[in-house]
Amino acid sequence: MATPTHSPARPIDFHHPELDSIYEGIKISPDIPQALKYERLMQILQELKKKFPRRFHVEKIGESVENRDICMVRFGTGPRKILMWSQMHGNEPTATNALVDIFNYLLTHKDDEFVQELLDGATLYAIPMLNPDGAEKNHRRNAQGIDINRDARDLASPEGRLLKSIRYRLDPQFGLNLHDQNGRRTVGNTNKIVAIALLAPPFDENENDNRNRIDAKKMAAVAYQALSPYIYGHIARYDASYMPRAFGDSMQYWGTSTLLLEAGGWYEDDPDFLVKMKFIAILEVCHAVATESYQQANPGIYDTLPQNDKELFDLMIRNATIIDGTGQPPFRSDIGINYTFSAEGDRLTYRGTITDLGDMELFAAKEIIDGTGMLVVPGLIGLLPPGQKIPLQPEQVQTWHGRGYTTLLAQHAMQNGRSLRETIKTLCEDKSLDVNIGFLARLDDLANIPLNEQATVLGDALFDGALAVLKAQQDGSRVHPLVGKILTWLHRKTLDENDLQASLSWPELLAQGRHDLPATLASSLGLLGRGRIRIGDFADIAMYAIPEGGISSISAEDLRYVIVNGRPVLPHSERKAGQQNGMVLLP
Ligand SMILES: [Zn+2]
Repeated sequence: MATPTHSPARPIDFHHPELDSIYEGIKISPDIPQALKYERLMQILQELKKKFPRRFHVEKIGESVENRDICMVRFGTGPRKILMWSQMHGNEPTATNALVDIFNYLLTHKDDEFVQELLDGATLYAIPMLNPDGAEKNHRRNAQGIDINRDARDLASPEGRLLKSIRYRLDPQFGLNLHDQNGRRTVGNTNKIVAIALLAPPFDENENDNRNRIDAKKMAAVAYQALSPYIYGHIARYDASYMPRAFGDSMQYWGTSTLLLEAGGWYEDDPDFLVKMKFIAILEVCHAVATESYQQANPGIYDTLPQNDKELFDLMIRNATIIDGTGQPPFRSDIGINYTFSAEGDRLTYRGTITDLGDMELFAAKEIIDGTGMLVVPGLIGLLPPGQKIPLQPEQVQTWHGRGYTTLLAQHAMQNGRSLRETIKTLCEDKSLDVNIGFLARLDDLANIPLNEQATVLGDALFDGALAVLKAQQDGSRVHPLVGKILTWLHRKTLDENDLQASLSWPELLAQGRHDLPATLASSLGLLGRGRIRIGDFADIAMYAIPEGGISSISAEDLRYVIVNGRPVLPHSERKAGQQNGMVLLP
């Protein structure tokens, strides 16, 4: 009979699946993290206070440069103090969203074992949105233009002074410094995007370990293990060396074991996902500290984590031949495309921009299109027939895509029609918009309007968003002389219907050597950054397979891809929920 060997302790996995399953039910943060601005945060804190007057402890601890309140929320009665702060960089809202969800979770699930262990073992002090002025403008820095996370020594900012004074008042053993990082970094030399990056900041130049820093590394190991079931392979070590002027490094030096948690990027158009990851990471770390189970975490996990590494594009076209639309001859290049998002109220808008050209073999992307043997040209701008109903049906849009068009111009009827503003508003809310769309006012419409009303009607159309005025062949002479002056004042052009040859396609343009037609048209419409393929331009692109006969023998059947505002719309694919590819073009 074999002697029973000493069985090793079961490793703690720091994974409480209930945090995932309860999340949707307790979430009170907006669907778009950027929509959580100062007013809304204050409103949420007040509502929680009203609903849980005896259990929700929130106090005003100071003010920002522009006199916005900075608040701190306290939970629990345990001996281990944890201080956490979010959004010291105003344009990094993910953790503020996670914090309000955490507040609601702790209040509504007070009898759960996890919550009880957490609040019995620790006292949490959370400062959501340390930089409300920056948050309001979606800026990194505070209203003085100071980066609060580089102000730990100078303390020139009221927000930085506040954070340091709170640390001295509370003397917490543990700290969580909550940020968002560049959403396009890879985990080491893999091509996987970093969803969450961790940093146990050093306290000295030699990046030595002491007890505080080892504890911070253990907290990082807890976060790593807690997040692995969801984002294994997408967790990195944040790449930073010793920065004595940063708060994380200073906290470590002052004696608070501090972990920096950075939310990065994700593949889906789901800005919410990283809020949930932060929610889980923060709670698991706090729970492990509260129960002291973090002591069993292995700090070596942190030391061996791959770092934030390469830059990653949202979309890359590799190894294509490009006609850039400026009249230059074709050249070989990769194209890097990135999306930038911005929140307008509760709506997330994005633009896909060409951010790099040239040899990018060493770069990675979330999505790659192999352009080998293909010609890349600017998407075409077409004129819709008069009287065309807007919005277009998907099949109509697909017909235009099939001919290489990415932008369509509708003719706005100035008489007896809906106001252009209403049409544009409807279109902006249309999530199915798969093509860029702009509007032209028709001059011959004006001829049928009494002279004394013409200036008003035209002015309305232009102010409501018409890009230019279309001169049809049969334009009458009964147009008020003021009309010309209005156009001059507003720097708007009059276009000839013949200039907008809707029937032209790339095979025809190539045959006629008119590579620059889309760019010329875009510029006469005031559409900067369209009709060309240059860095900074909108990514409106058509791709043709180059036949054996070479570029000049391309035909309509060779069209392979159409990209509108950075996203492939041809070949037609399942649309992601709420995804809008096209833009409504305004002057
Ligand atoms: Zn930051």
